[in-house]
Amino acid sequence: MIGKNFIGGEWTALDAHVVVQSPGDISDTVGSMGFSTAQDVAAAVEAAMQAKTAWRDLGAVNRGNLLFQAAAIVEEHAEELAQLATREMGKPIGEMRGEALRAVAILRYYAGEGYRSVGEVIPAANPITLQYTTREPLGVVGVITPWNFPLAIPMWKIAPALIYGNTVVFKPAEWSSLVAVRMMELLAPVFPAGVLNLVLGLGREAGEALIQHPGIDGITFTGSAAVGAHVAETATRRGIKYQTEMGGKNPVIVARDANLDLAVDLAVSGAMRSAGQKCTATSRVIVEEAVHEPFLEKLVAAVRALKVGNPLQADTYVGPVVSKPQFEKIQGYIEAGLRDGARLVAGGEMLDLDGYYVPPTVFDRVHSQAVIAQEEIFGPVLGVIPVGDMDEAIRTANNIRYGLSASVFTGSLATALRCVREIEAGLVRVNEETAGVELQAPFGGVKASSSHSREQGRAAIDFYTHVKTVAVRGL
Ligand code: NAD
Repeated sequence: MIGKNFIGGEWTALDAHVVVQSPGDISDTVGSMGFSTAQDVAAAVEAAMQAKTAWRDLGAVNRGNLLFQAAAIVEEHAEELAQLATREMGKPIGEMRGEALRAVAILRYYAGEGYRSVGEVIPAANPITLQYTTREPLGVVGVITPWNFPLAIPMWKIAPALIYGNTVVFKPAEWSSLVAVRMMELLAPVFPAGVLNLVLGLGREAGEALIQHPGIDGITFTGSAAVGAHVAETATRRGIKYQTEMGGKNPVIVARDANLDLAVDLAVSGAMRSAGQKCTATSRVIVEEAVHEPFLEKLVAAVRALKVGNPLQADTYVGPVVSKPQFEKIQGYIEAGLRDGARLVAGGEMLDLDGYYVPPTVFDRVHSQAVIAQEEIFGPVLGVIPVGDMDEAIRTANNIRYGLSASVFTGSLATALRCVREIEAGLVRVNEETAGVELQAPFGGVKASSSHSREQGRAAIDFYTHVKTVAVRGL
């Protein structure tokens, strides 16, 4: 597969290329990735600008019908997309199949938005005046995504952008470019030229050109906190709307009255699926001392039993991490954990496989201020922090710059409701995994995790549109 751009309804070849090797088996060459210059990005923005008025004027119902068509095409090719994504970025095939179907469901959900009402009728002082609100698209939206959900994240940005009447320039992460190209090949016949454009990029050049371009009216970004802060600053300076969804350091609190089997099961799934590379991954378990020992014993047994291996095999639980730099970064964090005196109770030693495999790793008795308890690792590494009581548990959960997702395992309604009230996070989940949020519910964080807007569900309309207030006097 060859990386190329899709601009104004045409595919354009790119000059510069790098070979893409599968992180699960580096002898498997997936294709070659091209990357764009600022001129390529400008051409894409101009194509989107030219298409925007006709797309807005097509009307929401007609746009919805096109999104239904797109959903059917993606569904027909879900297995192919899942296989390609697994080869390109290493997510185990079982999870990737689920993600491909989620992309289909997202398309259907937003297709349905074309049929739902927007706005409200508001009483006017003059009884012969009809006063109401409606929604207007922003115009051209720049979509910048990470690699860890190569189908779902682009779709939960592109689908609402389109249904609410915006045209799009999509810049995927370099590690998930080829699957983006394939997805665009499938979607290209559905939409008028210029409505949906793709520019590939390596490093920061294409993304930077996109956020700086004066033709961009809004930017939706998901990625690291550092790049997100830069995107936010640039958009603020330019006076355009932006949305930044960033990292997490998500805690699970295990109370003394928790169902320990359920807590272990969902902490392991939250921490180790996708090799821990989810913004909502569980990375800290804060457990009351009263149940620390039995919880740890069950946790270590469950983690040691996980199957690590080739992500294309259906029974693999933990696949590789996405890339060599990511692999080295995680190794650095495991060394930091050892240096800081945490007790390594599972994993830790690197595996001798032909890819970037990090074994599922658990540290016990991690200090709540240690590097591995404070920084986002984005790998299959879990830290256990024992605490004396629920006051200390909540303090520890909140003593962090991030605030994306948090779970509490408890049999007590009072403890559950207290955590819901007091935990600083955009998502609080009781007896549930930190990851696995449903597409029809609002998604986003607080503190350094998010610009505080929400994605998914009906909440998306708030970012992708402006409210217009209308008053019409009946003469
Ligand atoms: P990243 O910040 O390195 O890159 C994200 C995107 O930004 C990529 O497409 C990249 O090319 C682009 N980019 C880089 N420099 C840019 C610049 N100067 N201007 C504009 N764009 C630029 O993140 P990543 O490594 O791809 O993804 C992992 C991160 O994403 C983690 O921190 C994870 O927590 C976060 N994430 C957050 C969510 C969420 O919804 N909160 C979901 C998934 C991932």
